[in-house]
Amino acid sequence: MLTVIMAGGRGTRIAGIAGDIPKPLIPVCGKPVLEREIECLRAQGFRDIIITVSHMGGKIMDYFGDGSRFGAHISYYFEKEPLGNAGALFRLRGEMARSVDDSFLLLNADSVFDIDFKRLVNAHETKNADVTLFTHPNSHPYDSGLVITSEDGAVTQWLSKEDSRPKWYKNRVNAGIHVIRQSVLDEYMEALADSRKISVDNAGTNGNESTIVPDGKTDLDRDILKPLAGSGRMYAYDSPEYVKDMGTPERFYAVCRDYEAGIAVSKNLSRRQKAVFLDRDGTINVYKGFLRDIDGFELLPDAAEAVRRINESGFLAIVVTNQPVVARGEVTFGELAEIHNKMETLLGEKGAYLDGIYFCPHHPDSGYEGEVAGLKFDCRCRKPKPGMLLKAAKDFNIDLSESWMVGDSETDVMAGKNAGCHTGLISTDNSCSEKPQDRPGADLTGASLCELVDRILNGKDNCGQYENA
Ligand SMILES: [Mg+2]
Ligand SMILES: [Zn+2]
Repeated sequence: MLTVIMAGGRGTRIAGIAGDIPKPLIPVCGKPVLEREIECLRAQGFRDIIITVSHMGGKIMDYFGDGSRFGAHISYYFEKEPLGNAGALFRLRGEMARSVDDSFLLLNADSVFDIDFKRLVNAHETKNADVTLFTHPNSHPYDSGLVITSEDGAVTQWLSKEDSRPKWYKNRVNAGIHVIRQSVLDEYMEALADSRKISVDNAGTNGNESTIVPDGKTDLDRDILKPLAGSGRMYAYDSPEYVKDMGTPERFYAVCRDYEAGIAVSKNLSRRQKAVFLDRDGTINVYKGFLRDIDGFELLPDAAEAVRRINESGFLAIVVTNQPVVARGEVTFGELAEIHNKMETLLGEKGAYLDGIYFCPHHPDSGYEGEVAGLKFDCRCRKPKPGMLLKAAKDFNIDLSESWMVGDSETDVMAGKNAGCHTGLISTDNSCSEKPQDRPGADLTGASLCELVDRILNGKDNCGQYENA
């Protein structure tokens, strides 16, 4: 599949790092960020690459040449005048048509990424989508644009950071990586032709072919993609893989640390992942019995800090929660989704995010008034059964034997053991001094989620006092 990389950004905010080289050539751990990305693409068979350049573009062209040094075929589009980040695409339309695929991969060189592109393209093809947006939770959703989808992943709304947003929202942010069907560009041109906002560009890519192009600048998100929200033709592809903006010196140094620690590469979903599975009630939020009312959802004081540490560690943070209130007819699926939106919003305000939320809406005992009969059965997902963990393991390529299940009840510990994970139990009494026979068999016991997470991430798999007991 043809890949277009937009590398024309000026990168003014990061100029302090290296003012004399264009942002895509800034080295991360000794290697230009764009070179890392091209290597990642080429290793997955994406060898045909067009790079659009402008600011200091000559340096980028000199460095990568025709791509043969990197095992790829690279050509360029040099923007003489600013065309907006999508303007070049129309000038490249003729060249794209020679690709055997009707869709192309469009990447923004403003961010650093290491992702399983084949998986993304598969999702695009499976949905038969016109556009697939790579989306992910990030550590600052409150000042990021948000992508809202229906249950099947079709994008229903795309909110800019300036737009008003729901009080509680899912932490799902567009990462600047897309698969786009070429005909989407043609449709945009046809619509423009109707309103006559087009001109013939005689300086088309090949010099001798004229290309019909929009007048003025074209912004990819605003002009082309956002209008597709609600059409049923654009889908979000949620992924926990590594994609980070390096637009400021602070973020740039954070990216360098992640590469140094091997975190960026390890989060590529083609590699085996490790996760910390988290119970919800009593682990992330204050335990109040069955939670039916969203107003009753309140984060535990250390929950965001604990989740944030997991986020920074390279482990995935995944909630697995039994919610029999759905089967009992006390909370609808919609109300549960809203409670989870509140959880994500509150965590996001403190820089923490979840890579996945799995819930069991079932309950085995039937015969109660108001129950949802179809959810009353002995399912495979209700903890202590391992169904939710097994499903997550499949979805995210997780190695369960390298993962942890942490919760505040024996049910959580049993679910973790049944899935083959290490287990951690939050126990408010001083569990470390308990006799081993009194303990429910968790590998680790601690007074708080934060304490457990710290010990998990620091590689200690036993409570010191327990060992001495
Ligand atoms: Mg619990
Ligand atoms: Zn279930």
